[in-house]
Amino acid sequence: MPAHNDVAAFQELLRRIASSSNSVSAAGRSPRILALCGAGLSAASGLATFRGTTAALWHTHDPMELATPEAFAADPGLVWRFYAYRRHTALAVKPNAGHYALAALARSLPTSSFLCLTQNVDGLSPRANHPPEGLRTLHGSLFSLRCVGPPGHEDHAARCNYSVEDDFTEPLVPALATAAEGVDETAAAGPDGKPLPLPRIPAEELPQCPKCKSLLRPGVVWFGEALDKEMLKGVDQWVAAGKIDLMLVVGTSAEVYPAAGYIERARRAGAVVATINLDAESRQGLKGLRSRDFAFGGSAADILPVLLEPLIGKLEEPTAEA
Ligand SMILES: [Zn+2]
Repeated sequence: MPAHNDVAAFQELLRRIASSSNSVSAAGRSPRILALCGAGLSAASGLATFRGTTAALWHTHDPMELATPEAFAADPGLVWRFYAYRRHTALAVKPNAGHYALAALARSLPTSSFLCLTQNVDGLSPRANHPPEGLRTLHGSLFSLRCVGPPGHEDHAARCNYSVEDDFTEPLVPALATAAEGVDETAAAGPDGKPLPLPRIPAEELPQCPKCKSLLRPGVVWFGEALDKEMLKGVDQWVAAGKIDLMLVVGTSAEVYPAAGYIERARRAGAVVATINLDAESRQGLKGLRSRDFAFGGSAADILPVLLEPLIGKLEEPTAEA
């Protein structure tokens, strides 16, 4: 039995997965690899986690209270300022070698052979040129926009449903220019030290749907909201489609459902589970590890390019984003 952090043994497994599916004598089956990514993948880019970043800069507002449909209904301008700021922090960093390694893996395999699920909303995987057909953003993206209108049409069929993906325009509208420069407008204080009230941004100055002129909202999943049903259905279909050879768990402790459930389902479908995370080799991280599983404690940016080298070759550091 290989040790849980044996790089050569992992690479051998990867070669076997790829070659058995390519050889004529095999059942003619394509390899199937599932990945589940979390905040740890983006940590090496310098992006702090949701609570960390925002709590420091949006100190007069609880970010947990801004990321809700109720907050958007009450003051869409305030919520948009918060998201313009978050877009800025995400755009201020670059995808790292972990993002590029996963994107290269996606390009080295047939589309149906690798599905990458990410809990990250930071847009770094798309910016690393990860093929969109092999990427599912479980919690949405800071860079997708969705129409909330038209008003008074709560049932799905009557909704406008306009949406756009990977819109990196900054600022989205002039009213959000200050927030989009990374200025925390909530930090301004009056002579008494108390925060000054922010002028409310009129709805017509916020991002608007080109189809129905309703408000656009950030395309992220807010607290109290369900994940996209259609997307989950597609993931379920992929998972149920046959044997899974390998499950990569990258930068996440995967304690949140439905994400956590995918690991168990992949295992039941035959997958070897490989965890790549800073605490993967801690006592907690090794809990539940099976004898043939792998756990690599460290940064995904350092480890993924090495682990995946048999399929992606030497990862070239990109000089510019695609
Ligand atoms: Zn619309």
